[in-house]
Amino acid sequence: MPRKIAAGNWKMNGLRADLEQARAIAAGATDGVHAVLCPPATLLAVASDLSGLATGGQTCHPAAKGAHTGDLSAAMLADAGASYCIVGHSERRADHGESDADVAAQARAAHDAGLTAILCIGETLDQREAGDTLAILEAQLNGSLPDGAHAGNTVIAYEPVWAIGTGKVASPDQVAEVHDALRGWIVDVVPDGADMALLYGGSVKASNAAELFALTNVDGALVGGASLTADDFLPIVRALAAA
Ligand code: PEP
Repeated sequence: MPRKIAAGNWKMNGLRADLEQARAIAAGATDGVHAVLCPPATLLAVASDLSGLATGGQTCHPAAKGAHTGDLSAAMLADAGASYCIVGHSERRADHGESDADVAAQARAAHDAGLTAILCIGETLDQREAGDTLAILEAQLNGSLPDGAHAGNTVIAYEPVWAIGTGKVASPDQVAEVHDALRGWIVDVVPDGADMALLYGGSVKASNAAELFALTNVDGALVGGASLTADDFLPIVRALAAA
């Protein structure tokens, strides 16, 4: 059975004063759910020292080291205490032009450094309205998943671009359709694909978490805005524990 994972993506939010929220999240973490916080890199080392909380980076460079000003290698994230790294977030794909091949290289680098990759895929609203959702997602998955991915080093996050930070959550039927298809594709390409955790992301909050976690192939969530405070994030963690 896949692990239950509630991952928070703080994006470019969080100063040292906000570590108070990370501490409260760590203190409120629930048995049976793997709570992961991906703070900005400036807070990663100190957040990693909080017991009860796993941490992750928000991206990594595909190379192990070198002349890449401003970038961080997966080994640096691991050295700071991370055990996860988000790769292929739609904001990285859009803002930094990251392709599926780039994402696969980042995921491979994460694996090489001993990190679990949280690999994000998602369709835009135009693609959904054109009826292309499943074809787009299958192509993104095939293009972004590196050789050697398995349930122990990779988690897939389905994040419809139109639902991220917009307050528009995908309906349970839309999520179920995608996650059931995802499970089928993963089982075909990864030997232990039945055990790979599949997360949903896109405006998850306390009020919609339970109905999403009730779906068969939803093993958790990648949460942006609602991960910034313990008051918003912990009810999501508890809903996952109860699912
Ligand atoms: C995200 O950034 O991965 C995300 C899902 O954001 P939000 O929960 O704010 O929609």
